[in-house]
Amino acid sequence: MLIIMRQQATDEEIRAVIEEVQRLGHSAHNIPGSTRTAIGVTGNNGPIDRNLIESLPGVVQTMRVTKPYKLVSRETKPEDTTVDVGGVQIGGKDVVVIAGPCSVESREQIVTAAQQVKEAGGRMLRGGAFKPRTSPYAFQGLGEQALRWLVEARAETGLPFVTEVLDQESAVLAEQYADMLQIGARNMQNYVLLSQVARSHKPILLKRGPAATLEELLNAAEYLLAGGNYRVVLCERGIRSFSDFSRNTMDLNVIPAVKELSHLPILTDPSHGTGKRGMVLPLALASIAAGCDGVMVEMHPHPEHAMSDGYQSLYPQQLKRLIESVDRVAQAVSRALSR
Ligand code: PEP
Ligand code: MN
Repeated sequence: MLIIMRQQATDEEIRAVIEEVQRLGHSAHNIPGSTRTAIGVTGNNGPIDRNLIESLPGVVQTMRVTKPYKLVSRETKPEDTTVDVGGVQIGGKDVVVIAGPCSVESREQIVTAAQQVKEAGGRMLRGGAFKPRTSPYAFQGLGEQALRWLVEARAETGLPFVTEVLDQESAVLAEQYADMLQIGARNMQNYVLLSQVARSHKPILLKRGPAATLEELLNAAEYLLAGGNYRVVLCERGIRSFSDFSRNTMDLNVIPAVKELSHLPILTDPSHGTGKRGMVLPLALASIAAGCDGVMVEMHPHPEHAMSDGYQSLYPQQLKRLIESVDRVAQAVSRALSR
């Protein structure tokens, strides 16, 4: 249920409504907007008495939210959400490029990559410390040491960074170092992990599972908001299809669909979405043209020596070209590259 407050409702009235909702055994989520304040009510404690709520001072009306994902839905919050990640805004007018290696391999590798990302015009760094690999024999990441090097790369360049967490232990560790926590495609439906990072104070990059429907993605995001973390950015990273030409198939259709159904920002990851270096640029541009809020791409100072995903990692020069082209396409759709 959504409780719509009078435009001039006082903080006290809003607080009183929240307390009443909590007294009834539900959770209350304050959703301020430019034209109204709304209070989202969630919880699985049975129906709530509308008449009681509508009799409280400052309340205009209550509304049923028809979608299963309540807080993620545009019905609940008509205005776009902008997520601040270490000073970088995701979801505003400007589009953001996040880049970096698949895995953090050494101090020198990640600091060099960060400098190249910055030089190319990227706003954020990525790098895996905990790697979910298809083969148990593949490189699994350097763990906390990698997080420390990411911190050094941030100190050298000023770029905030996102890194993937796999479980409770890695989430607790990464929270101490990272600017944003990534829930990877394989964990999109790990509801225990989602509930844990919902309690984190860091923004979350939630990647779509390779076989997840849009509704499943939005419900996964709902776990985060329902748990109290409203700083969520979605990411389309390609899905499984009958087409086996590329690693995955970018489902660009979800970009306008997310914009219609939800207020959350959405990025794409054309590196994992295609699995081929040569396809990253065109799919990045197509994503921006389709209305996404930015892209996350893999790059490596020396892709031929990468310990993971080298074949889909851009050379530093290619990243530069990609960012210049993203800027031009962003302008063609009345946006701009975030600088
Ligand atoms: C990644 O971004 O490093 C990654 C493993 O991606 P995905 O979870 O989308 O496969
Ligand atoms: Mn990768």
